[in-house]
Amino acid sequence: MISFYNSLTKKKEQFEPISDGKVKMYTCGPTVYDFSHIGNFRTFLFEDLLKRVFIAFGYEVDHVMNITDVDDKTIKKSVIEKKELKDITSHYTEAFIKDIKSLRILEADTYPNATDHIDEMIEMIENLIKKGHAYQIDDGSVFFKIDTFSKYGALVNIEKSNISNDLEISDEYSADNANDFALWKSYKEEDGKTYWDSPWGRGRPGWHIECSAMSVKYLGSHFDIHCGGVDNKFPHHENELAQSCCALDSPFVNYWLHSEFLMVDGNKMSKSLNNFYVLSDLFDAGFEPEEFRYLVLSAHYRTRVNFSMKRKREAKSAIARISNTRERLTEINNESSKDYPEEFKKFNACLANDLDTPGALAIFFDWIRKINSLLDQNKLSTEDIARGNSFISFFDSIFAILPQKEIIPPEIAALAEKREQYRINRDWAGSDRIRSEIESRGWLIKDTVNGPKLLKNS
Ligand code: AMP
Ligand code: ZN
Repeated sequence: MISFYNSLTKKKEQFEPISDGKVKMYTCGPTVYDFSHIGNFRTFLFEDLLKRVFIAFGYEVDHVMNITDVDDKTIKKSVIEKKELKDITSHYTEAFIKDIKSLRILEADTYPNATDHIDEMIEMIENLIKKGHAYQIDDGSVFFKIDTFSKYGALVNIEKSNISNDLEISDEYSADNANDFALWKSYKEEDGKTYWDSPWGRGRPGWHIECSAMSVKYLGSHFDIHCGGVDNKFPHHENELAQSCCALDSPFVNYWLHSEFLMVDGNKMSKSLNNFYVLSDLFDAGFEPEEFRYLVLSAHYRTRVNFSMKRKREAKSAIARISNTRERLTEINNESSKDYPEEFKKFNACLANDLDTPGALAIFFDWIRKINSLLDQNKLSTEDIARGNSFISFFDSIFAILPQKEIIPPEIAALAEKREQYRINRDWAGSDRIRSEIESRGWLIKDTVNGPKLLKNS
């Protein structure tokens, strides 16, 4: 049995899937106007952990992650850069997919783009107007009338009368009632070439309706889990919940899960503090993707995690301890077993308890210490070792932090060696020629502070 803290009921609850053995989950994806930053990846890693735990516990997962490819930020960027919206968003979507692959995040089953679902959004808005939950104003914008949904504010425990005090009033909100939020925004000159025709004239959808329309299209009007970072709770998820429940007369989602923020050196990440990182900044500084995974997963998802470049050594040594043990075991016996050591149950109990990764890691490292001591004393049987191999493989199916044994073809390794000789002799033209040859054979060579590294060019 797995239990999670449900942001809607504010309680830890046992997870009961709608269909036996199946989980339908929707996770709010990136807004593709720039590279995702490491804070975004904290949330995407929490969602990856959740999915990996479900899979390891035998569930079949249907995972949808949307791509927000139209909103204020994407439009602004396309206008400033004088580029088509699609050119901007497809570039950053590609970069996002590359980033999640490099972090070993399991890919979603579907990545719907908001701009491919405008018809579904219009249909939902029409339905809301018909049912009296939404109204059009003179300029052609449409707003959701929050007074028509008695449960509004449930996710954040907010009184409807106090909402406007907590919000920055913008064109997201109605002039009639500052709490009512936009479902459809009428066209303005600053939107440039981005608009769609609708029953209310030219315009574009509000951000919240995008996720309602896409989640329902791919997962149905009632599904199991909806996730995001804490900042998504309000207003995004509160609004999604209101408009979906009202349009569909359905509970919409059973469990709402939110991960806390990633901080950098104890502060909020911001460009002005010079602590704003994207993944390539970490890799350029010699971080391995697995080291970032470890730092994020070693904190519980509902606590803030503090990232610092200085924590690289801590992550490296934790990973090395496990992979050295893996080496020691497999050198003796490479087999795995259907059984596990006794610590396995406790490890799983931690994961099943609202994804308690710090607890699971503590049990796992105690076991690593014990197994190393038994190895030193030559006290492990072949079966013990096979059970150990299985535990480490299971562990890594959840954490995915151990180095993958990528087989580098000998001719690629030889080319890399040759390039290194050119570089030592400062023959840059020769070194570039070999780099191109390596690339033409489907590999990339990356110079890191730890020396050159070969990567499969996927
Ligand atoms: P965005 O690309 O801004 O739509 O955000 C994508 C996801 O990242 C959302 O689920 C946000 O809640 C989450 N997020 C944004 N900033 C942070 C942060 N500093 N730490 C953790 N999650 C974040
Ligand atoms: Zn969303």
